[in-house]
Amino acid sequence: MIYIVSLLNDYLEENMRQSILFIPTLKEVPSDAVAKSHQLMLRGGYIRQVTAGVYAYLPLAYLVLRKAEKIIEEEMENINVPEMIMPHFLPATLWEESGRLPKYGPEMFRLKDRHGRESLLGPTHEETFTEIIGKNIKSYKQMPIALYQIQTKFRDENRPRFGLLRGREFVMLDGYSFAATREQLDKQFDDQKHAYKKIFKRCGVEVYPVIANSGTMGGKNSTEFQAPAAIGEDVIATNETGTYSANLEMARSIDTFSPEKEELKPLEKVSTPDCATIEQLSEFLHVPNTRIVKSILYIVDDKKVLVLIRGDKQVNEVKLQNALDADSEPRVATNEELLSIVKATKGGVGPVKAAYADYIIADETVKGLYNVVVGANESDYQYINANIDRDFKVNEFADLRTANAGEPDPVDHLPLKFTTSIEVGHIFKLGTYYTNSMNAKFLDQNGKTQPIIMGSYGIGVTRMLSAIVEQHSTDNGIFWPKEVAPFEIHIIQMNMKNDEQTVVSKKLEEIFSDKYDVLYDDRNERPGVKFNDADLIGAPIRIIVGRRVSEQIVEVKKSTEQESVEMSLDSLTEYIS
Ligand code: ATP
Ligand code: MG
Ligand code: MG
Ligand code: MG
Repeated sequence: MIYIVSLLNDYLEENMRQSILFIPTLKEVPSDAVAKSHQLMLRGGYIRQVTAGVYAYLPLAYLVLRKAEKIIEEEMENINVPEMIMPHFLPATLWEESGRLPKYGPEMFRLKDRHGRESLLGPTHEETFTEIIGKNIKSYKQMPIALYQIQTKFRDENRPRFGLLRGREFVMLDGYSFAATREQLDKQFDDQKHAYKKIFKRCGVEVYPVIANSGTMGGKNSTEFQAPAAIGEDVIATNETGTYSANLEMARSIDTFSPEKEELKPLEKVSTPDCATIEQLSEFLHVPNTRIVKSILYIVDDKKVLVLIRGDKQVNEVKLQNALDADSEPRVATNEELLSIVKATKGGVGPVKAAYADYIIADETVKGLYNVVVGANESDYQYINANIDRDFKVNEFADLRTANAGEPDPVDHLPLKFTTSIEVGHIFKLGTYYTNSMNAKFLDQNGKTQPIIMGSYGIGVTRMLSAIVEQHSTDNGIFWPKEVAPFEIHIIQMNMKNDEQTVVSKKLEEIFSDKYDVLYDDRNERPGVKFNDADLIGAPIRIIVGRRVSEQIVEVKKSTEQESVEMSLDSLTEYIS
């Protein structure tokens, strides 16, 4: 008997008791947090900011993070991809070799060691993997292979914000594949895509795989996984049947390909009675007007480019400028002009023809304002004197157009619907971009030297936590999907002074912790406090042990049900399973 009791005590000690778990919940909505997920994760005691874009993952967030990582590990194992870990600290020489050092710009955390050697904190690891694989794989017989890591990445984002959505230090799953043939790469890419879909499904994130721009990765073929959410910084276009989806991303191309971006100056704010408000614009564009920071790019003809950058709610005007003429004065767009942009965006209106996901090819409708770069009236998102050749390159676009060749044509899928969304993952068929520049070669079947064919694959794991919260919450609470919930069952004892309640609560904790992760609220707090905290902890099942326990009755609330139900302890196990 004594033996059993001590065993039980040991067991109970390993369970989670709320009294010892550090969950610093907040009553007030933090005023500096805009995103719903950011607010909830601060209020729920999941995270705390240490410095801009850098967060401490407190016990609750860490539990969720580990569960997401476990899902990733299982799905990578399913496609036979082993895990490993690379250093964070990297020599700049690797990036010189690949040619990405100048391109990456101020987003890279650069440092010097005591000998003055240029170094950096890894924002991604294509170079590091290419280097090691290239030095150690010599024959087609050693391929195909793939590897992955779950690791902290560093990017000195211009605007870290929205909590874990855009951090300067964040956790990424990044994988890299190496192949001897295109066919092998295609198979690796498909396997990864399939695994990613399963990962997102198990984590409860609704995602669209979309046609994407490859950014500085340099790859030609890439797919993003976009999670629709009001706060999302991207805009995706999908057709009605869901058979077509693509990212309308181009704003970052201006950032990315603009060595002289620093010299671009913010537009002056000019208010004129006939300029469109952001509300009007967002209504035209069919996107929620809560926050819009995005661009849409139009190619009027092969050379002339129109970029529209929309700002956020404070924005109440849009400016146009001839992008081929750096000296020309930007001016406020008229409603008529905006309307034609809007028509182009919707596609299929008048003579406008949508041709690519990233581009809308227009003709007469926008003649009056072609070659226009538009700034938004939010600092950092507005530019004066933007110029095609200087600030972004037409051939980069041309390149992307070729990259998108073979993709389904949006014209076949009109009308398109636009939705703001969060990029939670991105996979690339890199081809030989890195292996050529870094000289990672192998001997093929005929004894001929060839560059290794690469793919790279990434999920923003910490960003995904925020995306889950964005999709599974109200303003007052989180409803964690089962597989990533910090706890699956939350036992809430209403009155800690009531011995009967204590006995039953402990008994339930003991029974359920066999199969589930159980949190027991054993704190000496008022019911109101306990309930508010429980809403933020967001367990899928809540068992409230209260007054009716004397009749062997408790209250159970499943997050999937509207109402809680009272039931006898006898029927509880069945109801929960
Ligand atoms: P974004 O367009 O949002 O800046 P990205 O295209 O630069 O992202 P990738 O280089 O494709 O990002 O990196 C792979 C994944 O890492 C992204 O799909 C995203 O989920 C995540 N990620 C990128 N930047 C951040 C960040 N600053 N904070 C959190 N997660 C990020
Ligand atoms: Mg980025
Ligand atoms: Mg992106
Ligand atoms: Mg990306």
